[in-house]
Amino acid sequence: MLVVEDEPAIATQIARRLTAEGWRVDVAADGLAGVEAARSGRPDVIVLDVMLPGIDGLEVCRRVQAERPVPVLMLTARDDETDMLVGLGVGADDYMTKPFSMRELVARLKALLRRVERAQAVVTASESSAPPLELGDLVIDRAQRRVSRAGTEAHLTPTEFDLLVCLALSPRTVLTRERLLAEVWDWADASGTRTVDSHVKALRRKLGPDLIRTVHGVGYALEPTGTPRG
Ligand code: CA
Repeated sequence: MLVVEDEPAIATQIARRLTAEGWRVDVAADGLAGVEAARSGRPDVIVLDVMLPGIDGLEVCRRVQAERPVPVLMLTARDDETDMLVGLGVGADDYMTKPFSMRELVARLKALLRRVERAQAVVTASESSAPPLELGDLVIDRAQRRVSRAGTEAHLTPTEFDLLVCLALSPRTVLTRERLLAEVWDWADASGTRTVDSHVKALRRKLGPDLIRTVHGVGYALEPTGTPRG
């Protein structure tokens, strides 16, 4: 596990807690050191602060993901900063706004790791068996974890993919943000509903604004449109 955080007090606090949970923890205090530590230490998950000296968390995330897909939990200063990051397509898997509780950080990291393991297991188990989901012009290949709309492939993060599949398995059905959090993030506490909103924004940006309908105060529904190609 890698923690990239320039405030020594916060970095130490996080590292202590994660070490107490039994994880091996490396700490990097600036962006370039973070990229280097991700390269040499090959962490299974990265806790990444956005505001860093040198290159910021966005750039660290891009450089690390360009070499090897690693789950990233990003620490932001404000909720609207999370939306801004999603708009830029940074590709983090989860976001937490400071200040946060260590208990919540640990729970989210555990959920993130469970999700990665489950996704790998699903791919292995269903490689030859899961038929593609076809909804209008949207095609989701679960075995290959690939998505296309009207013949154009979209590149989704693992979390975006899982969210899309969850919505696509119940098309035209409104799923509450709490249910999506539980099913996709494996996260029972409803305090992370903004994370759901952020990932829906990312899916709309990558697959078109009309695909997922917002039901205000309730949740989201996938609305198939267009016709299958061929
Ligand atoms: Ca910082």
